[in-house]
Order: sequence, then structure tokens, then C-alpha cells
Amino acid sequence: MTSTAATTMPAYRINDWLENPRLVDVPVPQPGRGEVLVAVAANGLCHSDLTMSQIAGEIGELIGWRVPFTLGHEIAGAVAALGEDTTDAPQVGTPVALVSPASCGRCAYCLAGRDSACPNGLAGRGYGRDGGLAPYVVAPVRALIPLNGLDPVAAAPLTDAGATSYHAVRRVLPALAPGGTAVVIGAGGLGGFAIQHLKACSPARVVAVDTSPARLAVARELGADETVSGVGSERGDPARVAGALKEACGNEGAAAVLDFVGTDATITAGVGAVRPCGAFGLVGSGGGRLRASWYGGLPREAEVFTFQGSTIADAHAVVALAAAGRIRSLVEVFPLDSVADAYDALDDATLRGRAVITP
Ligand code: NAD
Ligand code: ZN
Repeated sequence: MTSTAATTMPAYRINDWLENPRLVDVPVPQPGRGEVLVAVAANGLCHSDLTMSQIAGEIGELIGWRVPFTLGHEIAGAVAALGEDTTDAPQVGTPVALVSPASCGRCAYCLAGRDSACPNGLAGRGYGRDGGLAPYVVAPVRALIPLNGLDPVAAAPLTDAGATSYHAVRRVLPALAPGGTAVVIGAGGLGGFAIQHLKACSPARVVAVDTSPARLAVARELGADETVSGVGSERGDPARVAGALKEACGNEGAAAVLDFVGTDATITAGVGAVRPCGAFGLVGSGGGRLRASWYGGLPREAEVFTFQGSTIADAHAVVALAAAGRIRSLVEVFPLDSVADAYDALDDATLRGRAVITP
């Protein structure tokens, strides 16, 4: 393989179970067989990162994670060096984004194009393995998406925030006929993209729900037709919000609700707002429960689902949508040594765009 000059680099890592991440010096990785080394130009910060330092060792090991590992699973940059057996890889220097979810490419789910359900993909770059909050990361050739002129800083958040929300929207498209309404709960990084995917790919009206007035203003800018404050904020109890949502949906209820928060309150309000034959998709990892009887407590003839990540095809589709100017990637750029401040801003919901680190 070709090699890079530096032998060590700074990396923002979780060094041990239940420890807060910090910047440390680590060796520059070497790509193995079928892998390339990517010089990271940009890495988007995801709310999921904030939960990773709270995972106990027993759970982490059960799902195949190893410590230490470098955080960051929304990565774009350029191919810097090629490992062995990479004749099908783009040339060194090619700008690429990296498919965020890991998958094996060989199991029945992968072969069917349902790679987001791959049982061998529970550990990946930035979750249990080294990710993109460092100048270099390694990735298999099948994870590379050529950027074809798209700015890596704009592209990085597409790989998870953009693609996971696209996966959710794609699932509910059959429920969205003209005249119907889709509701997005939690108009942050993923939710902001979901609003845009709904407007780009469906005829639905879109109602956005958030506790932050600033995020509701961004939601309108991204195409939301109406906004509702909640859930759990002042005057925001779940029953009131479900009622306000039904009203915002012409009193017949929402054709689809996508919940990017996932607390008891958002799940109760969201499921309560779905009309018969509609859909409720849970994406947020808030750990909430639905306290309702299965019979009679769910919207009639509706679909209720959850999932993790997106398929490789979803990631390619979202990069193509952005390259065609059909969706926007709002970002706020931070240097690697300000990564802790950027996570604080994400946690406080004070960001206007996705926080992106440029290592
Ligand atoms: P984010 O912080 O950018 O956005 C969350 C938004 O929800 C913020 O705008 C916040 O103001 C809003 N919010 C918080 N509490 C709320 C409430 N009670 N009611 C309404 N709005 C509320 O986060 P993100 O990076 O977009 O991630 C969103 C969620 O999706 C997180 O839980 C994350 O862990 C999860 N996630 C899941 C997957 C998956 O594959 N299932 C992938 C990525 C992220
Ligand atoms: Zn697989």
C-alpha cells in the first residue's frame, strides 16, 4: 500500500467502558485486505454518540463492541491509501462519504438488500470500532460513496442523519396519499432531514414538533408546513399534543408519524395521533415505553415499526438527492479540539445545523 507520512494522530475516543470520551494520541491505522485508508475531511456529530459512554461493559461486549474506540460515524473525506485486493476501489485522492451502518455483505439480509437488518453489523466505525473523529479512518471498499463534486462537510451528515431519516420516510411512503399529513417529532439533525425527504418524495403536508422554538424555526425553513410545540414542554403533555396534532392533521389524524425522540411522552403523543391505516415509526433512542393495551390501544390497521440505521442503497440515494440540490445539509463547523463544546451544543439543542468536526 501507499503510506502516509504521519505515524500518530489525535483521536476523540472512549478509552474504557462508562468513561467520558477524550482526545488522545493513537497510531495512524493501516488498511487491511479489501480496505482503504480515508483522510477524514468532516465528521458529523450524532445524538447517539452521547449515549455511548453510558454503555456498560457487559452490554458492549455482548454486541461485539471493543474499547478503546474512536467516536464518529458520519464520515466524509478522501481516499488516502489502498490496502491489498482493492482493485475495485476509487483512486487515491477521490472524495468519498462512508456508509455509516456496518454489514457483512454475505448474510441473507445483506443479499436481499436489507443490510440495515444484518446481524453481523452491530459494531462499526464510531460504535465499538474506530470512527471518524480523527484525521484518518479505515473502511472497506463497499462502504465508499464517491462524492461527485459534493462538499465533504455537507456530505458527512448525509451518511447517518440523512440516510436513517430517509429509510424511515421510505417505509411510510405507502401511507402518504395526497391530502394526508406526516408528523415529524424532534426536528433536530435526523428530523430536519426527514422533513426535507417528506417534501422531496411525497405529496404529504408536514407538521414538525419540537420543544425548542429555534428548531421549529429551522423546521419551517426546511419545508415544514406547520409547527407544534411539545412534547413535554410547557402546555405540552402528551394528550394535549396528540390533540393538537390531530387538529393540525385536519382532525382525521396523521397518515404517518416519525418519532426522532422516543420518550414515553413522544411515543404516547405520536401513536395517539396516527389515523387508521397510518404508520408510526420510532427512530429516537430515548428508551420510552408505550403504556397502552395492544388490542384497542394502537391505531386500527396501522403499521408500527422501529429499526436502526439505513441500507447502503439509502445512503447512495441521499447523496444523489443532495448532489441534485433536492435536499440541503445545514452544518455548523468545529475544529477537532472543540469537539466537546460541539457535543454540548448538540445536547442543548442550540445548533442551527448538524455539528461537523473537520479533523
Ligand atoms: P438532535 O439532538 O439533533 O435532535 C433531537 C431533537 O429533538 C432536538 O431538536 C430536540 O430539541 C428535540 N426534542 C428533544 N426532546 C423533545 C421532546 N420531548 N419533544 C419534541 N422534541 C424534542 O438528535 P439527532 O442526532 O437528530 O438524533 C435523534 C434521535 O435519533 C436520537 O435519539 C438518536 O440517538 C437517534 N438515532 C437513531 C438512529 C437509528 O438508527 N435508529 C440513528 C441515529 C440517531
Ligand atoms: Zn449481513
